Amino acid sequence: MAIKENILRIRERIRASCVKSGRLPESVTLVAVTKNRGVEQIKEAIAYGIVDIGENRIQEAIDKYSSSQLATGDLQLRWHMVGHLQTNKVKDAVKIFDLIHSVDSLRLAQEIDKQAARINKVQDILIEVKTSPEETKSGVKPEEAEVFLKDISGLNNIKVRGLMTIAPLADNPENSRPYFRALRELRDKINQLRATSYELRTISMGMTDDFEVAIEEGADMVRLGRAIFD
Ligand SMILES: *Cc1c(COP(=O)(O)O)cnc(C)c1O
Repeated sequence: MAIKENILRIRERIRASCVKSGRLPESVTLVAVTKNRGVEQIKEAIAYGIVDIGENRIQEAIDKYSSSQLATGDLQLRWHMVGHLQTNKVKDAVKIFDLIHSVDSLRLAQEIDKQAARINKVQDILIEVKTSPEETKSGVKPEEAEVFLKDISGLNNIKVRGLMTIAPLADNPENSRPYFRALRELRDKINQLRATSYELRTISMGMTDDFEVAIEEGADMVRLGRAIFD
């Protein structure tokens, strides 16, 4: 399937999910997850309106970020780190990413703060929350999120924009709904309690198999790979 048709169809599906749940289609950002995809494919996606690029490995992201075809200033791309980030890669990550979706430990937050300070940047981040009980998933436990936010609130070179989660693999997208709902409720609760100085806005959730359910539950960033490129 051609990337162009895929993107047009996805935009239509995003619009329909927004209508169904009484939301504005412009309130949902489509992040194209370009891991394992070549620059040619990425350029094609950009030609059809993609500006948000998601990667999950630092070296691959650096290669693409600095490739002559994507590094032209007039493209105005926004780069998203959606995968697990190791502390020894943070120095490179803060140089290229506009938003890091996967902050899940104090050590990582401190390192991002330190490396961002070195380049005079305030790094936007999301806190990854483990909304499902699966042992293998990374992320802060929901009941620990508030304390975690307090712990990092003194770090001046990071700014928490919101929360991110990954639902467990499932055959039926409806199975993801409770996890997505849990993330939105957690966001609302933290904001209501004014538990931190941050106003949490962004909710990053939903992938190829479950993005419509995610939008119905309040996602404002969906991260799609296969739906765009396969
Ligand atoms: C790969 C990946 C995606 C995109 O997954 P698809 O199922 O291809 O849409 C989204 N989020 C993260 C964190 C990923 O690693």
